[in-house]
Amino acid sequence: MELTNNQKDKILGIKPRFFFAILLPFILCFVLGFFVLKYKFVWQDFFIFIIFYQIALFGISVANHRYFSHRSFKATPFFEFLLFLSSAIAFQTPAICWAAVHRKHHHFSDKDEDPHSPWIKNGEILGFWKGFWHAHVYWIFSLDTLETIKKYTQDCYQNNRLVSWHRFHMSIGIFGLILPGFIESWMLGSLSGENFLRGMFWGGFFRVMLLHNAVFLINSWGCHYGIGYRRNKTSDKSTNNPLLFPFILGEAWHNNHHGAQNSANNAQTFLELDPHYWILKACEKAGWVSDLKNAHRN
Ligand SMILES: [Zn+2]
Ligand SMILES: [Zn+2]
Repeated sequence: MELTNNQKDKILGIKPRFFFAILLPFILCFVLGFFVLKYKFVWQDFFIFIIFYQIALFGISVANHRYFSHRSFKATPFFEFLLFLSSAIAFQTPAICWAAVHRKHHHFSDKDEDPHSPWIKNGEILGFWKGFWHAHVYWIFSLDTLETIKKYTQDCYQNNRLVSWHRFHMSIGIFGLILPGFIESWMLGSLSGENFLRGMFWGGFFRVMLLHNAVFLINSWGCHYGIGYRRNKTSDKSTNNPLLFPFILGEAWHNNHHGAQNSANNAQTFLELDPHYWILKACEKAGWVSDLKNAHRN
């Protein structure tokens, strides 16, 4: 179905509000945690957390970042839909918006117009805490979503199929919070309130909270504030930060990424592991992706 520009603007022109985007999920996570943390931790809790955390991380790292933002590989329509699903389950800003902001970040990294530099905002040099909170999360609320999308992601904006999927971004995100409740209940053998809440907390709210903050830390402290090391002489302040590797895998090699933005592989030495690139190589063998760009050939 052909969408008019007005329809596209309505689908994509979301304005995140502090209460709904940050405060409400935080309160719900806290309240749910209050009930669930009374129960003895079981391996099913850990299992559901890991599975949904990895699906969501894939949605950020492979879908939003390497595919929609940088087009570092090509995908079949089926795999592109899976990428969109994982992106929506991650429950950050919708994929096209994420890509637009990220492309702008690369255009102006750590300069005045960077949407989320911890160093500067609208000509104002930021101190540590002001810079930290601006780059971590506050930047989201001064975002001009549509203007950024139209300027930086015309390729996505002109793609009717992709824009129309975005109507389901929110519903899929909410489904991704509830589904772990059903799966963990099934794993534990009964659909009781306790089992359902366990799954919803570990695979849903807690997983979202942890991954959101791990990704936000790339901008606020981890990979643009001088923590870690620089392998590539880029004009920004990006660093590789091994401390973030357990939480964001190959995205921790952020200076490598700034040095070769279109590469699907962020690793530059054998010690810098990038499991998402290995997954993409396997998907290439399966015929789901092609034209994998690899600047490093390791
Ligand atoms: Zn960056
Ligand atoms: Zn990037």
